[in-house]
Amino acid sequence: VAGFRRLAARHLHHLDGIEVVDGSVVRNAWPEDLDVALRDQDVRRVARRGKWLVVHAERASLLAHFGMTGSLVLAGPDAPLDRYHRAVLHGDADLRVRDVRRLAGLWLATDDAGIDEIIGPQGPDAARLTTGRLAAALRGRRGSIKAALMDQRIVAGLGNMLSDEVLWVARLHPGRDIATIVPREVACLHAAVRGVVARSARAGAIPRTPAWLASQRSVAEPTCPRCHGPLERSRIGGRTSLWCPHCQPR
Ligand SMILES: [Zn+2]
Repeated sequence: VAGFRRLAARHLHHLDGIEVVDGSVVRNAWPEDLDVALRDQDVRRVARRGKWLVVHAERASLLAHFGMTGSLVLAGPDAPLDRYHRAVLHGDADLRVRDVRRLAGLWLATDDAGIDEIIGPQGPDAARLTTGRLAAALRGRRGSIKAALMDQRIVAGLGNMLSDEVLWVARLHPGRDIATIVPREVACLHAAVRGVVARSARAGAIPRTPAWLASQRSVAEPTCPRCHGPLERSRIGGRTSLWCPHCQPR
């Protein structure tokens, strides 16, 4: 989302209008109302809040959440739409919301309170986390560390893949019970969050280069980029986790 934010900040200084291709992408308004509320105005600021993108225009704000497979892509005005394009933001250039699985959504907010209500309670942002804030966010909680990292109310901004990457860097098993994690491990986890998030944000996406766990995600027999042993997949917190039984023992 940090990459989408940069793209929007660069190309959306003015919103000419929003063309909704797939009406189901708009979650809290009629597609026409979204366009009417946001068309023909300057964009004051483009922000990221956790996994949310917020485009603050003069009279209203547009919120976007990209789900698991959504993205914001730059497109020439004459580039043909494909079946996965859900909406087009017409600005200095055209930015398209593209999503294979239809989990991405757009919301309209007319003021800051409306934005807060749509986003809901969020923990400290992963990109601005401190060891102390992470320790405080985890204190007194139970359950697996993987589920906690993906819970936006505990830490905002981490999804399934980033959480796997973070745990692999910190050498923590995704199923580790939070209650058993000692302060030294929290410090290690914090360093991993900051490092992984900063490098991903700079790249605009989670790198798939060989040094990253993500490079193994769609491989049939994935191996650990660090120890070269076989990786394991299991369902933790409702999502498929990829982890190394050698580097991340229970
Ligand atoms: Zn390993």
